[in-house]
Parts: sequence; structure tokens; C-alpha cells
Amino acid sequence: MDIRVTLAATGPVPESLLALIPAPISTTVDETAYGQRINLYARHDDPAALRQALRAVAGNVAVGVLTRPLAAQPARLLLLDVDSTLTTTEAVDLLAEHAGAGERVAEITERAMRGELDFAESLRERVATLKGLSVTVFSDVGPRMTLSPGAEDLIRAAKAAGAKVGITSGGFTQLVGPLARILGLDFCNANRLETETVGGVERLTGRVVGDIVDRQQKARDLLRFAHEHKVDAELTVAVGDGANDLDMFDAAGLSVAYCAKPAAAASADVSIPFPRLDAVAAFAFNA
Ligand SMILES: [Mg+2]
Repeated sequence: MDIRVTLAATGPVPESLLALIPAPISTTVDETAYGQRINLYARHDDPAALRQALRAVAGNVAVGVLTRPLAAQPARLLLLDVDSTLTTTEAVDLLAEHAGAGERVAEITERAMRGELDFAESLRERVATLKGLSVTVFSDVGPRMTLSPGAEDLIRAAKAAGAKVGITSGGFTQLVGPLARILGLDFCNANRLETETVGGVERLTGRVVGDIVDRQQKARDLLRFAHEHKVDAELTVAVGDGANDLDMFDAAGLSVAYCAKPAAAASADVSIPFPRLDAVAAFAFNA
């Protein structure tokens, strides 16, 4: 079958890696803002085996072995995780620092992302530490959410390709909602922190209201977002870094692990080991 092998790297791609791709029909090499992107078009009977062979020796190079339809056309929908993917920060950690529970919460977050704790349960535990915080915490913490390097370039490339862009987050609507508006995104889902007014001050209750955005919900978000825009699942790309992204990886046409925990990196179609989110565009949009 026809395949496109895409390699994205911050430095030169080793010849030994290129030599593993048998008889490419054509090759293009492009300079990018982060380094270089190489596309090799070929025919191959076993793309999964080729992908495995390439990734085994890829080192710091991101490798994708794409089959149709994405081998030949750009993705039409991009859904991103937020904490440690779209942003370098973890929202709950930023909020917990404000509550003076930073260390304890960072430890729970880390264990949850490694898949050692049930996400929903760990979320409830972490959110409980936020009880009593004034909602002014959102305006204090919002500016401390830092976009990953290349994030805006990736969104620009997606829009230039005519794709819809959204976020699904185990973080909080009160923080990622404004971020989605600033970035002009087409979809946003996250957990909503419950608030109550006590003595004239609106404060967090330490609880989440509504459905928790866990790994199953993230997969449902991908399908709902795709359905809303009449996009075939094969033409969707999901990007994330943690265990709670694994179900949306399965649901997407292409899954991209970004500076990911080992479990997420191993199960994604593409793993980007270097901190440049715009490298996703090489695989999703050939850009
Ligand atoms: Mg994450």
C-alpha cells in the first residue's frame, strides 16, 4: 500500500534511520522553525512493522508511518489535551499552589498521569484541596498557564489547512475556556469547578460539577467534535501526553504523543520527544 513516512527533528536526521525505508518513490526535505521535516513516499506491505523498526532506533526524531487517508490528505480536525500538551503547566498544580497544597497535589497528579491512580478519583482528591479559594484565583492563575513552544504555530497551520481545532482537558473550564476563546478554538471541554457564595465572596467548594473529563470522556469528546463538523474519524488527530489521553488516541485517525509519559508514548502512532508542539503539523497537515 501507499505510505508516507514523515520524520521531524530538531537536528539532522541520521542516515541510518533513512536507510531503513526501502525504495522510496520520492523524498522531500524541508526546513522548519524547529529543525527539519522529511517526507518519504513509498509502497510497503507492513506499515506497522516499518513503524516499529523505525521507532526502535529513532532517538530524538519523531517518526510517523502514515497510510491513507492521512498519507495523502491533511487532517480535518485536531483535538489537543491541555495540561503538559497545549500548555507546559498543569492547571490543578497552579491552583493548588495558591491553596498552599502544591506539593501534595503535584504528587497526586504525577501518579495519576503515570496511570497508577484512577483519574476521576485523583481529580476529586486534588480538587478537594482547593476548597475555600476565592474565584479570583482564576484571574491570578490564568496568566501563569504557559503555551508550549510552537503551540500557536500548530493552531495556525491547522487553520491554514482548513481543520477544526479543539481542546479536551482534565483541567477546568474556568481556566481553559478563556484560553480556547483567546486562541479562537472550535471546541472546548473540561471539568467545571463548583462555586458557592459565602459572605458575599464566590468561593470554590472543593467539588467538580457535571461529568468528569476522564480518559473515556476525552474519546467521547473526539467523536462528538468530529460529528459536529461532519468529519470522518479517520481524518482526526488527537494529541496528548498522559494516561488519560489513551482512549482518545484509540478513537482518532492519528494519535500523537507529545513529550509524553512512557505509556502514552508507546501507544501513540507518533511520539514527539522534543518540546516543539508545531512538529505535530508535519504529521497532521504535512506542514
Ligand atoms: Mg496532559
